[in-house]
Amino acid sequence: MLALANKIVIVTGASSGIGRATAKLFAEEGAKLVVAARRQAELDALVAEISDTDGTAVALAGDVRDEAYAKALVDLALEKFGGLDIAFNNAGAVGVMAPLPDMVPAAWHETMDINLTSAFLGAKHQIPAMLERGGGSLIFTSSFVGYTAGVPGMAAHAAAKAGSIGLTQVLAAEYGPKGVRVNALMPGGTDTPSATFKTPESRAFVENLHALKRVAEPEEIARAALFLASDASSFTTGSALFADGGISITRT
Ligand code: NAP
Repeated sequence: MLALANKIVIVTGASSGIGRATAKLFAEEGAKLVVAARRQAELDALVAEISDTDGTAVALAGDVRDEAYAKALVDLALEKFGGLDIAFNNAGAVGVMAPLPDMVPAAWHETMDINLTSAFLGAKHQIPAMLERGGGSLIFTSSFVGYTAGVPGMAAHAAAKAGSIGLTQVLAAEYGPKGVRVNALMPGGTDTPSATFKTPESRAFVENLHALKRVAEPEEIARAALFLASDASSFTTGSALFADGGISITRT
């Protein structure tokens, strides 16, 4: 039995990295997908790949900072597939890095909007659809940054990612009684296009921060997302799940 047989799922940030790997894994596990990001061509390529392996996916391009887009993704899931069971709110970005006295409010707001307001807007429209189905699983991609690590220059990113854990806890308490589980996923350093370790030196530095002395492939984070999405985690809610190679506990 496939882990997500006939489950209807929204994956944001699906054009690249962790979101793309997760969409592919969820499709292999039987999910029907609505995939989301700004870049239409990358989403179309993903949908084609999924269709080639007999999976089911539709794409809608847009910006997760826009409430109308959050609603449109849910409407598409309802129209095309008849409901919504799972949402992986994963779109995010490092955002603007600067020492705090140098950070202008517009840069702060931009980083908060992509990493935290997007989670609020997604959940706002996804929860009612899940309640119609009698439950569901909501996942936010958070980070060790802002939870177990203070990385200089990343104040806005850290505040946003830490904020998503607060959001997770409140929504888990509010909607647990109605069958909706809500969890945060905490990747460690992961080899994706937006990873900050671009030079061999910076990569070696980041790898060494992890107990496993390497960074993750996106597919490894996707498997943790699958756990949170599926009934394998049926008694897990309100959690911040580490899939971080031990970066949170390592003092090199
Ligand atoms: P990535 O490959 O750059 O993917 C980011 C995804 O988010 C892309 O699909 C991008 O698509 C989408 N996105 C960004 N801004 C958006 C917007 N305004 N509207 C819609 N979609 C938007 O990076 P990743 O590493 O897989 O990141 C995925 C998540 O993991 C992020 O939340 C990130 O903060 C988190 N994370 C990553 C790491 C790491 O080391 N890589 C560690 C901890 C946490 P478009 O550009 O097409 O819009």
